[in-house]
Amino acid sequence: MSEKVRVRFAPSPTGPLHIGGVRTALYNYLFAKKHGGTFILRVEDTDQNRYVEGAEAYIAEALDWLRLTPDESPAQGGDYGPYRQSERKSQYAKYAHELVEKGHAYYAFDTSEELTKMRTDQEALGHHSAKYDRRTRSLMRNSLTLSAEESKALIEKNENVIIRLKMPENEVVTFTDIVREDVSFNTDELDDKVILKNDGMPTYHLANIVDDHLMEITHVIRGEEWLSSTAHHVLMYRFFGWQEPKFTHLPLILKPSGKGKLSKRDGAKFGFPVFPLEWQQEEETYAGFREQGYDPKALLNFLVLLGWNPGNDEEVMTKDRMVEMFSLDKIVKSGARFDIDKAKWFNQTYIHKQNVEELLPIAKKVLADNDVSVDDTFLTKYVTLMQERITLYPDFYTEGTFFFHAPAEYDAKQAKKRYTAELDAHFEAIKSIITDGNNEAATLTDNVKSYLNENELKMGVYLPLLRIMMCGSLTGPDLFEIIALLGIEESNQRIDKALVAFKEL
Ligand code: GLU
Repeated sequence: MSEKVRVRFAPSPTGPLHIGGVRTALYNYLFAKKHGGTFILRVEDTDQNRYVEGAEAYIAEALDWLRLTPDESPAQGGDYGPYRQSERKSQYAKYAHELVEKGHAYYAFDTSEELTKMRTDQEALGHHSAKYDRRTRSLMRNSLTLSAEESKALIEKNENVIIRLKMPENEVVTFTDIVREDVSFNTDELDDKVILKNDGMPTYHLANIVDDHLMEITHVIRGEEWLSSTAHHVLMYRFFGWQEPKFTHLPLILKPSGKGKLSKRDGAKFGFPVFPLEWQQEEETYAGFREQGYDPKALLNFLVLLGWNPGNDEEVMTKDRMVEMFSLDKIVKSGARFDIDKAKWFNQTYIHKQNVEELLPIAKKVLADNDVSVDDTFLTKYVTLMQERITLYPDFYTEGTFFFHAPAEYDAKQAKKRYTAELDAHFEAIKSIITDGNNEAATLTDNVKSYLNENELKMGVYLPLLRIMMCGSLTGPDLFEIIALLGIEESNQRIDKALVAFKEL
């Protein structure tokens, strides 16, 4: 690639960043890194009505958590700033005026009542979902239908004055999309989009392409929902005589089952997060991958494969490997189905591969959140023992609760199947083995098993019972590791307590 790659992630701060937005950011990031280019964060906040307090900070925090650090952004700055469109407001009007002068745009003065009337009139004539376009513009009040004097007077009064693009008649606009190859639209299907609003703010369409041009963006990589706007964008590039960037539209992320794209409601419905970080809005809390205990690296690995494949069967990839393998032509056309079990699988895989040292502070925090405090020696042994049993970080507590609280209940079915009071004497003997032996799991295993063998006692009776005594149920890591970690005193107390409780089951 000869030109210097410059790509941007351009979210609008209208709410939290959906997981699809994170994927867009990731693909932009990977493409930039792959080509030694620049990854830019541009905040598209021109629509003041849809602005949501806290959304921009959320986006920055999410990118930071995922280590998708922009090279240029509102926070970092850069040579092409400002990177927040509201701060670039004064730059856009002249471009809208340039299009008016060139005859590609015009002023419109219609009130919202007039616009509604046009739609109802059209509907009555059988034209459903009528738009402001080549057919209807001649019926409206704009600088194409009014005299130059009338228009001038209305512009001076500055009431309801907006600028609209004038779509040419019956022209085919063709552009190349890296995923979809040639895409064509007929201008007769396109409406005369507003490009400059009455408050002097540009709409998304104008601001987006002016900034892509001024920021020297070489590749636009964004969600498929923007494909239908691209014809307008391409026309504007051509009207200005600017070189258009190369477009790539990413496939939709689909619901886990059924039709349609993954929405924020699906998260609540299916019980999984669709946002990177937790988000609170109007009394509602939307779950976040971070808060549910996902590792950001695992989440990126899960996301990279939602709509792209490396061309081989590699699945677990470091970010460096993703950069090495990434290419836009391997992005798939069809929608990518969201599968939370796959996300969990990646998380589990990452946790299993992590160094114990890295997991210590995470586990410590999970335990602290559950009012458990442990010393460092215990923590290291605990994490080493539990690591392979963890899928999400909170499992550091839930999978090992019995380490911190003696069982309050026992699996009655499993205990009753095996326990009789005649066994008590042998459990007393096991208690003294635990007390006398050295406290290593391996020694405990040998000593207890030898005792059972020598006395011709059944492993399948005593060992599960001993486990139920320690954990309350038959789950958990190696029994003797548990006993070793709980310590002599605690283990013996649990045996005593269980021998009483089992008789009541
Ligand atoms: N502001 C648009 C969004 O919210 C940007 C779309 C684009 O990348 O052009 O996604």
